[in-house]
Amino acid sequence: MVTPSGTINPARVFIIGVGVAGLQAIATAKRLGARVDAFDTRPVVEEQVKSLGASFVKIDLGEMGQTDQGYAKELTPEQIKKQQEAQAKVCERSNIVITTAKVFGRKAPRLISKDVIDRMAPGSIIVDMECSTGGNVEGSKLFEEVVTDNGVIIMSGDFLERQVPYDASKMLSGNFTAFLTHFYDKEAKEFKVDLDDEIMRGCLLTKGGSIIHERFKED
Ligand code: NAD
Repeated sequence: MVTPSGTINPARVFIIGVGVAGLQAIATAKRLGARVDAFDTRPVVEEQVKSLGASFVKIDLGEMGQTDQGYAKELTPEQIKKQQEAQAKVCERSNIVITTAKVFGRKAPRLISKDVIDRMAPGSIIVDMECSTGGNVEGSKLFEEVVTDNGVIIMSGDFLERQVPYDASKMLSGNFTAFLTHFYDKEAKEFKVDLDDEIMRGCLLTKGGSIIHERFKED
């Protein structure tokens, strides 16, 4: 905002993890007039970030990619460390940081450490959307607002679906109906567990007393 008494700069917002929640966060922050940076480990996301008018933070972490279903692959501890270092400067200059980074079947990666938070300006806000799955931010507490010694506010933006139970239930029941209809054999009048079907392979965790899902067998 340019006024006769000077210019007020827009807030800087940094979104880490640009899936469904991250894209909404970018769009909302842009609508409110912020200058937005974003990062995700899936390279395809860069174009989506730019199409919403935000800048994509480029961090070279070597092999990243995504699974066949479009989800992020887990990074190695070395890659996470590299990411933390590379994004620290962006965190420090941001007024708001929103983290939504998640890896299917794994604990959420810890991406913002206390020493970075210590260097952020007083009054800055961090929203950790992944508190319930391990937390992207050191010191975040589920359902609590934490104020650090240097005045940074860490909010847990978790379980948002609980605040919209009507729509959340509608989406979930829609998913269940599609799933049951797909595998229901009308002639035999029974539910078929078809392991040749990729949808079934993607969600069946155990069979005959053992863990059969590839992702969970490794643990
Ligand atoms: P998600 O909730 O599993 O993860 C959120 C984001 O975190 C992802 O974009 C992921 O790449 C990112 N991430 C993981 N590790 C990270 C790290 N170290 N640093 C930064 N970011 C990291 O993802 P999602 O919101 O379900 O979306 C994943 C893909 O699936 C998208 O392409 C989405 O459009 C697609 N999709 C999802 C749904 C759904 O219902 N969730 C439906 C259809 C399509």
